[in-house]
Amino acid sequence: MAADEPVGTDERPLRVAIIGAGPTGYYAADHLLRHTAPVIEVDLFDRLPTPFGLVRFGVAPDHQKIKSVTAAFDKVATHPRFRFFGHVELGKDVSVDDLRRHYHQIFYCTGAQTDRRMGIPGEDLRGSYPATEFVAWYNGHPDFRDCQFDLTKERVAVVGVGNVAVDVARILCRSADELATTDIADYALEALRESRVKEVYLLGRRGPAQAAFTNPEIKELGELADADITVRPEEAALDELTRAALAQNPDRATSKKVEILQSYAHRPRTGKSKLLVVRFLVSPVELLGDDAGEVTAIRLIRNRLVATPTGTLQAKPTGEIEDLPVGLVFRSVGYKGVPLPGVPFNDDWGVILNEKGRVLDSQTKQPLVGQYTAGWIKRGPTGVIGTNKPDAAETVTGMLEDLARDIHLRPSDATPEAVERMVRERQPQYVSYQDWLRLDDIETRRGKETGRPRVKFTRVKDMLAALGRA
Ligand code: NAP
Repeated sequence: MAADEPVGTDERPLRVAIIGAGPTGYYAADHLLRHTAPVIEVDLFDRLPTPFGLVRFGVAPDHQKIKSVTAAFDKVATHPRFRFFGHVELGKDVSVDDLRRHYHQIFYCTGAQTDRRMGIPGEDLRGSYPATEFVAWYNGHPDFRDCQFDLTKERVAVVGVGNVAVDVARILCRSADELATTDIADYALEALRESRVKEVYLLGRRGPAQAAFTNPEIKELGELADADITVRPEEAALDELTRAALAQNPDRATSKKVEILQSYAHRPRTGKSKLLVVRFLVSPVELLGDDAGEVTAIRLIRNRLVATPTGTLQAKPTGEIEDLPVGLVFRSVGYKGVPLPGVPFNDDWGVILNEKGRVLDSQTKQPLVGQYTAGWIKRGPTGVIGTNKPDAAETVTGMLEDLARDIHLRPSDATPEAVERMVRERQPQYVSYQDWLRLDDIETRRGKETGRPRVKFTRVKDMLAALGRA
């Protein structure tokens, strides 16, 4: 075929590599494959053998409804111009240069794979963990399945009041019977069955109106079978500045959130075996430990709210100190993106350097030809799963505009066969979509036997063995 023939025809489709098979990868594939002019072919890569990223490894096991979005992703995967290459890692099995040899466009959507630090003394004591690790562990992520959390401790602090902190607190407070009907990893179910955790503290540095969690999530915490919930009345009360801000800009969701939290302040304990305490206006300043280097307490400083020049309300320490005895600490103060080898990165923000999804050269800050990004690695760890749909669409719009202007990579061999040859050579154990559907079938069949949505494979070698590979 002639090299000067336009790209995007039946004879010479636009070939796109998407890196990361989480929700954003599927939304991007869907947006791209809906087009018939130009004709587009998509190869979706993931470093793990299983697709769905955060839907499989981030969404809490007791939130199965949210996971049903994978049905739409499976539908995208039936498209004849879609292929999946699981267990193929960018930077290890293939490089950006390899992709440039085979694709017209490369799309990075690898999410935010690590945690933000609190930056306080004692943060690395034994018993202090990023919430991201605990979440990945109970969800059966192969890289985290061997983590150990000492659940013999009776008191646990979860720092942060976002939805991830709520997930962690809820999983710690659920009874084994509640968890046994979910797709939580087997080993996590066993460990949580033996858990001696009795009190869980969710720690917010600002007030109830500024809490990042959403209303259905905080409401759900008040409906747990075996845990009571409480908030200190003085911490649930609104300060003058928040009250003035709400009077000026009424916001129903925020008012409702405060109302729910204040109702918890007046709820009597009903004798459930666990207690969930939501605290506000406290910041951790240090984790205290014993001689063995294990966490024994979290030192908190009381805050008050002050207005910044932009009008947002910020926590300002008052100097009043409190030590809260706890044996476990989960730090849930946000996720952070990890750089991809060979892709320009903004370290401060933890995102790929980009403008509306076009990857920028680190030096010139001009768009790099044929390289794009979307999702958390583009904009940071915010929003719900569906937020990534319009975000991916924005990037795809830019990709199609660039194609129309004939701006794309000039691969030396853009055939699908050449990619398959390369992948087979670099990672002979790669997992196709057909392979994944077999694993999915085994997992769901194993689940049916025990009344659960699925029993997950949590080791790559077990997945490969189930596929009849060595
Ligand atoms: P998040 O919503 O950004 O919450 C982070 C929390 O950490 C905030 O309360 C923040 O307080 C606090 N924080 C940050 N730095 C801190 C520090 N140094 N000391 C004390 N507290 C600190 O992040 P996330 O919970 O990781 O969630 C990420 C995204 O996933 C969010 O958009 C979330 O809604 C979404 N998600 C949704 C669901 C769901 O829909 N069910 C479940 C899980 C996650 P400030 O506000 O004061 O900064």
